Amino acid sequence: MGCPNTCSFCNQRAISHTASAPTAEQVSVILKNTVFSHGNTEIAFFGGSFTAIERDYMLSLLEAAQPYIQNGKASGIRISTRPDKINEEILDILKKYHVTAIELGAQSMDDEVLSANERGHSANDVRSASELIRKNGFELGLQMMTGLYRSTVEKDRQTAYEIVGLRPDTVRIYPTVILKNTRLGELFQNGEYVPYSFEECAELCAELLELFEKNNIRVIKLGLHASETVESDMLGGFYHQAFREICEGIIFSKKIAAEISQSGKITVFTAQNAVSKAAGHKGCNKKYFAEKGIYIKFKPDKNISGRNILIQKDE
Ligand code: SF4
Repeated sequence: MGCPNTCSFCNQRAISHTASAPTAEQVSVILKNTVFSHGNTEIAFFGGSFTAIERDYMLSLLEAAQPYIQNGKASGIRISTRPDKINEEILDILKKYHVTAIELGAQSMDDEVLSANERGHSANDVRSASELIRKNGFELGLQMMTGLYRSTVEKDRQTAYEIVGLRPDTVRIYPTVILKNTRLGELFQNGEYVPYSFEECAELCAELLELFEKNNIRVIKLGLHASETVESDMLGGFYHQAFREICEGIIFSKKIAAEISQSGKITVFTAQNAVSKAAGHKGCNKKYFAEKGIYIKFKPDKNISGRNILIQKDE
């Protein structure tokens, strides 16, 4: 709701599982039936351009959330919106209603890509909205897409560098999924839009994940949310339930490759929660190295954290 135009890739109804937006009363019922993890739960209004919806309706939704902020069950409210629908006036309202985090659909920082995908805003809108949001003390989230129509791997990289420069607290990275009944779907079907290969897309997203993490920006989503609707409406592009795990596997594979020079048996020690990530999705790293004559055992080590690894030669 609230979108002045339809972006080339968007079939929001397919993504948000619903053909109608909830009323404030329905939001109250949902919240009443929600089990809150005390003080550690945020109420989120996603799936559209929240600050662009009809004002009274927006206020009624925010009102419905207030009792849970006041009794401390919810720590705050998150919303997602378009970069061109942020200004001082709207931020004052959001502050008054205890909105704590604002996510902007930036998608690309390249004006040509934005225009080719009918986003209806510019990269400059992302820059100014991000600055305003940060200046007003909100948590800033930026969402970017990879492999949009008329984008390239290099343009996607540049978008990520620019996003790092805008210093968001969180980022979501969405590889483009081509849905039925979208402009992008038409362009794909008539051959005008050719998506990246899966390998190209996963390699790029792995690189971006590392880039954001190195800059202390939390990547809170990599790939679209699991959804049967997206799967059934998908014409092409990238949707995989374990997409993040695949990207993490690529990062580990590169780390291992950089540290071993000859074939043989080795043990790779990782953080306790990283053993399966290091072995790769369905053990693909293990298989990949075995084909090169490098036989790896993966083991946890409680002294190792993050994506660090320690390699021991076994013979
Ligand atoms: S602004 Fe977001 S919700 Fe609206 S049409 Fe574009 S992608 Fe879809």
